[in-house]
Amino acid sequence: MRHFAVVGSGPAGFYTAEALAKAYGEQARIDILDRYPVPYGLIRFGVAPDHQSLKAVSKRYDKVAETAGVGFVGNVCVGADVSVDELLDLYDAVILAIGAPHDRKLGIPGEDLPGVIGSAEFVGWYNGHPDFADLDPPLDGTHAAVIGNGNVALDVARILSKTREEFHGSDIVGHALEALEGSAIKTITILGRRGPHQIAMTPKELGELGHLEAALPLVDLKDFPPHEADDALDPGQRKSVTILRDFNDIRANRPKSMIFDFFAKPLRIEGDGHAERLIVEKTELDEKGGARGTGETYDVPASLIVSCIGYSTPPIAGVPYDDRGGKFLNESGRIAERLYAVGWARRGPTGTIGTNRPDGYEVAEAIAAAMPATSSGDRAGGEGLKRLLSERGVKPTDFADWRRIEAAEEAAARTGSPREKMVRVEHWLRTLGW
Ligand code: NAP
Repeated sequence: MRHFAVVGSGPAGFYTAEALAKAYGEQARIDILDRYPVPYGLIRFGVAPDHQSLKAVSKRYDKVAETAGVGFVGNVCVGADVSVDELLDLYDAVILAIGAPHDRKLGIPGEDLPGVIGSAEFVGWYNGHPDFADLDPPLDGTHAAVIGNGNVALDVARILSKTREEFHGSDIVGHALEALEGSAIKTITILGRRGPHQIAMTPKELGELGHLEAALPLVDLKDFPPHEADDALDPGQRKSVTILRDFNDIRANRPKSMIFDFFAKPLRIEGDGHAERLIVEKTELDEKGGARGTGETYDVPASLIVSCIGYSTPPIAGVPYDDRGGKFLNESGRIAERLYAVGWARRGPTGTIGTNRPDGYEVAEAIAAAMPATSSGDRAGGEGLKRLLSERGVKPTDFADWRRIEAAEEAAARTGSPREKMVRVEHWLRTLGW
């Protein structure tokens, strides 16, 4: 029998557990740990609430959690309640799948002013992440700025612009729905430090902006290279650029504007005690395709500024860390003897949910190749972990506990919504009678 601890219950953790369960069959016990009492990580707290079809992948993860030999161990924070070294004593291998939940910093003056928020915080707020339930983003000004040209920037801009009716069918949490309904924001500027050909936005997500009820996406055709230059792009990028250009042809009267401001590098944020404006430098592409400042600057008014410029994995004491990459130091997922990383903690914050499947399977295969199914059997595994946690007064949740929380959230759903998420750890635990 082999014992495995997968730390993190987002997509990377579940795909790895699935792959280990397939590779070892009855010869493995796999515990999927999470610091929260509830599973799914990015699926619950990161994927946009109006993208329910993407969230449906959790049904597949349910099947993994209900596989014989696989268990969910929630409410346990690795690094605080139990160390990685202790897990390595208890389990044959430990796989870190903790994602990249921290915002990268802009590194510009004024970044700490109230009103400047990282996307992990803002997304966490509307998705019911307990750490950000009290964020209370300022929505009383008329202008917001979203920094970055990736899919997270699109999520944030879209959520800021939607009407209450457009959230029908979503699981946006009640506090965010109410706040957004009362929002005064009329103009959302999306800033990219490079041009339309360099965006990291994907066609399906970009295309949604054309169909918004209240907001009109606006581009300046002067920012685009000649049409022929699109031929050099890969098919996905070409599609995205075509969608962007076509925004110019939308003839509709909508009360809000979503302005794509390309070649715009944030220099600093100014305001009297809170963010009021972003000072931006006009850029051009350098020889290597990077952004080079032109010296020309201008102001973008904004009392809410959300930076969507990427994420990093939090370091864990004793685990080698790559400061530049913001992830664990690893080679093809292997960090050290019996210690592995998967998903964003391995690769950095890139790729879709599906990218984590081959990633998790690859690491599981490497583990299976390094560790035959039969072991000397002297690791205590999950039973040992339970004993240790009990000594420390830590009470873990299991998958049946999650099912009870899930049922309570579904029962509390407003009309048309799949669930009303509880946004406080104590509410989850109270539902369990703890
Ligand atoms: P991303 O795709 O890497 O985009 C980050 C953006 O931030 C880039 O446009 C980058 O510009 C810009 N940026 C970085 N540093 C900057 C700075 N200092 N100043 C100004 N701009 C800066 O990251 P993401 O949007 O956070 O998304 C993370 C991953 O999740 C991606 O793989 C994404 O596709 C995925 N995702 C998918 C979905 C979906 O499928 N629906 C939704 C959300 C996220 P440069 O290119 O110039 O560096």
